[in-house]
Amino acid sequence: ENYTPSATRYEASELFYNRCGRSGVMLPKVSLGLWHNFGQANDIDTCRSILRYAFDNGIVHFDLANNYGPPKGYAEQTFGKIFESDFKPFRDEMFIATKAGYEMWEGPYGNWGSRKHIISSLDQSLSRMKLDYVDLFYSHRYDPNTPIEETLNALVDIVKQGKALYIGISRWPLEQLKQAYNYLAERDVKVLTVQDRLNLLDRKPQNEGILSFCREVGAGFVSFSPLAQGLLTNKYLNGVPAHSRMEQNLFLQKKVLTPELLAYLKYLNSLALDRQESLAEMALAWVLAQRGVTSVIIGASSVEQLAQNIKCVNAAPFVEEL
Ligand code: NDP
Repeated sequence: ENYTPSATRYEASELFYNRCGRSGVMLPKVSLGLWHNFGQANDIDTCRSILRYAFDNGIVHFDLANNYGPPKGYAEQTFGKIFESDFKPFRDEMFIATKAGYEMWEGPYGNWGSRKHIISSLDQSLSRMKLDYVDLFYSHRYDPNTPIEETLNALVDIVKQGKALYIGISRWPLEQLKQAYNYLAERDVKVLTVQDRLNLLDRKPQNEGILSFCREVGAGFVSFSPLAQGLLTNKYLNGVPAHSRMEQNLFLQKKVLTPELLAYLKYLNSLALDRQESLAEMALAWVLAQRGVTSVIIGASSVEQLAQNIKCVNAAPFVEEL
């Protein structure tokens, strides 16, 4: 049936949106990522329900990449189908991101950071998603074998051509991130967001100075895998359930769940229960409480997960270091 978004979707707006660094853009504290759960094997009605639930609750920022699926490209295609049927009238309310830089198609141009790869990949993404432009386009990773200027000039041109409104940088080492930031800024393209993994189990962006660099220059920081792919939920506290990411043993491997990690997760879970929150809520609230973080990009395989996770914006403050 036709989709009519909830009339109250922006009711809590003041609480729900953070300014993205020193920019004009506000992003929801919770954003939705489509890395998993939007592939060929996933039920399109569930995909549609997740996207509708997100939008109905003010989650207007959607994070994709050329290669999300499986198979590669499929998440963008699923998104495009649902965009056409449900979201087209609301395009200007949405902030849609995609990326290029990981292996996407065969041959020498299907991967990494050449101008050839980046421009062709974005054109493909736009056609799969049925969009004229994306709001945010990322270099998905640093390419050590392509001159940095070649990758960055492609990003500048993408903005000048109107195919993306803003540029983001994902997973670049700090040194190259600084170079990229400055090179783009000199050409009037400001890096809007830096995207990296930050969660209770992985604090690399803090330890390596990426987050403090973002604060210094006024770039936003968005954290991917804020739940460590589900480890920071109650999902694996009592074994590996069927239909879980770890059961597939591919991107989240069973061997990471050592007895030591399990003990730590149970300890964190007890802290969350003391706060009358789920572990997921507390873990997301922790990421959002780190100085300089704009948004957490979560994944969800059901509407129930999304409903639980979004509650993190009302979580208790942290009185002690975790
Ligand atoms: P999360 O850490 O949020 O993990 C999501 C998974 O955790 C879900 O699929 C689900 O697993 C489980 N989960 C979530 N909520 C609950 C809950 N309440 N109870 C129980 N289990 C729950 O994020 P992702 O690893 O999925 O990454 C999020 C997004 O970040 C991606 O979609 C992508 O957009 C982006 N990303 C970017 C990368 C980059 O290189 N720039 C790299 C990785 C991700 P299950 O499916 O088993 O139910």
